[in-house]
Amino acid sequence: MKLQDFPKFIPPSSTALSGKMPALFVGHGSPMNALEDNAFTRSLRKLGAEFKKDGKKPAAILVVSAHWLTRGSFVNVSEKQETIHDFGGFPQALFDMQYPASGSPTKAKETALLSHLLHETNEWGLDHGAWTVLVHLFPEADIPVFQMSIDYYQPMQYHLDLAAQLRSLREKGVLVIGSGNIVHNLRMSIPKLQQGDVAPYDWATEFDTWVGKKITEGDYRALANYEQIGAAGKLAVPTTDHYIPMLYTLGLADGKEEIKQVYESVEYGGLSMRTFQVG
Ligand code: ZN
Repeated sequence: MKLQDFPKFIPPSSTALSGKMPALFVGHGSPMNALEDNAFTRSLRKLGAEFKKDGKKPAAILVVSAHWLTRGSFVNVSEKQETIHDFGGFPQALFDMQYPASGSPTKAKETALLSHLLHETNEWGLDHGAWTVLVHLFPEADIPVFQMSIDYYQPMQYHLDLAAQLRSLREKGVLVIGSGNIVHNLRMSIPKLQQGDVAPYDWATEFDTWVGKKITEGDYRALANYEQIGAAGKLAVPTTDHYIPMLYTLGLADGKEEIKQVYESVEYGGLSMRTFQVG
């Protein structure tokens, strides 16, 4: 029998084998996406629908948002989750939006037990890093949601390591979503946008492409040390708040899993909307 005579064996994906929940990173961009119907929001709607279609409806959702920065790492264990409108200068319709999902005290407390670095809190709710994407991913708001904060005083490796301690959540039906933006330089994007120029800066494309490549290669150490790539890294990540959520998504990967790119685009000159799924 020659090798090619063997029947083709297509292994099921690791997710199907293990029953593990995937992990997501979403580039959330402008809060206005909550109200808009565009290529990005349609990609989120399609992705969310697949979770229901595949019978992979999460038991709960944990969001690590760029907009909850603290000293220490906190998990919100409240039943009630207020929709926080943490922005200014947007239309009233955006302030009127609510995402009425409940919290998940049980899953949140289970999460807090997984690492000595985590503390329980009843403060916070759902900030716009969470709800502006959830309104598209899961518009019915029928899955409990809770957030975990970002300790903004820790090195990049801390976030990868903390995420690794939370991997078992995926086996318990918890969908973890990191919500930020890989390239996020509003100071340089806004004046460009005001001139009607939406073309990406070269450094934005360069950095976003480099990150995409490192994700595919599984080289998360390089991503934690992104400053070493020089000028593009400094311009793309002027502050680390929107970059860190990606490290949580990657830290939840087990190293053998497929990473699917869901959406790729650099908008407004210096804002990457790259969105991907682990597992
Ligand atoms: Zn943001």
